[in-house]
Amino acid sequence: AWASVPEGPPDAILGITEAFKADTNPHKVNVGVGAYRDDHGKPYVLPSVRAAEKKIFEAGSDKEYAGITGIPAFVKAAAVLAYGESSVPLKENRVSITQSISGTGALRIGGDFLSRFYPGEKTIYIPTPSWANHKAVFTDSGLTVKQYRYYDKNKIALDASGMLEDIKAAPNGSIILLHACAHNPTGIDPTPEQWKEISSVVKSKGHFAFFDMAYQGFASGDTNGDAFAVRHFVEEGHNVALCQSFAKNMGLYGERVGAFSLVCGSPEEKKAVDSQLKILIRPMYSNPPINGARIASQILNDPSLNQQWLGEVKGMADRIIVMRKSLKGALEKLGSQKDWSHITSQIGMFTYTGLTPEQVDRLAKEYSVYGTRDGRMSVAGMTSGNVEYLAEAIHKVAS
Ligand code: PMP
Repeated sequence: AWASVPEGPPDAILGITEAFKADTNPHKVNVGVGAYRDDHGKPYVLPSVRAAEKKIFEAGSDKEYAGITGIPAFVKAAAVLAYGESSVPLKENRVSITQSISGTGALRIGGDFLSRFYPGEKTIYIPTPSWANHKAVFTDSGLTVKQYRYYDKNKIALDASGMLEDIKAAPNGSIILLHACAHNPTGIDPTPEQWKEISSVVKSKGHFAFFDMAYQGFASGDTNGDAFAVRHFVEEGHNVALCQSFAKNMGLYGERVGAFSLVCGSPEEKKAVDSQLKILIRPMYSNPPINGARIASQILNDPSLNQQWLGEVKGMADRIIVMRKSLKGALEKLGSQKDWSHITSQIGMFTYTGLTPEQVDRLAKEYSVYGTRDGRMSVAGMTSGNVEYLAEAIHKVAS
């Protein structure tokens, strides 16, 4: 029956993991995957997560279904984490929020909702480059995907003027996707001043701001600081959409914990949006999984676990910052004449090295260093044990 089905291309990032696994070089390094590793290169389960799991187990919780929009105590706390304790729309009960299958699921719910109800042109503008899945998620949601300039290849920096020009040039009332913090793949974010300018331009054009926040706390170690852009937009009166993921900041990757929210104009508007989110979600998966959301809810709602978690998020962010400094230092020690300052100025999980696809290919072939061909490397995959080897390999292919 399926003779006419053409074989599609494999997922680029999963292919890297396969090649890494098959490599027998004991010095091999995987900087392709976007998951945090400890300084021994091992996956890290946060102690606060273990403690929350223990509490849930000891409480003898049942396995009943959650409601269509998930666990109320979880989504409520997730909203406060993102929008802040003193958020006006939260106080005014005009934020519609639903649990989602991690950040990807939130993006999909948001895309589908806009595709059904967005009153303007159903075109979403994403940055060039953006997370590889954005285009597919929004296209499959029924939106038209276009792009705005974001990255200046020559300067290895934000192309702020290009970004603003493109956002200005988009037809009034367009949907603009913004990475809330720790832009993936570049690790380059607008400064607070630039965010303010972006907010004004988005407002003056009557655009709709759609935030993807997959790294809150993971970028700077401070969950409030990382929420600056989202909160600024909301303070400026934007009724934003927001996708949250707890994959990175709680290390809950495979638990698939996230949330999608929409700031509405009034409680009545929120009520209608709530009802439509349920109608949209019900035929997709009925209701979301409960385990990860219970863990996140415990952590967010128990003050002492919450404090512990914030310390652990900062620990992960700090280790990444140390690795950035080590890599840059090691390259300089090897006598590299190139400017590597972007390694330490970029934030979040990744560094966008500026290496060409050919150089990345050489890294894999000659040094067993596996990254994506756009030159992106996961700093979380670097350890005090492999960073010097990595620097040597980069130095050799880059010079
Ligand atoms: N958005 C961005 C920018 C991401 O980097 C990721 C994770 N790689 C996601 C969304 C979604 O991840 P998840 O579905 O695992 O939460």
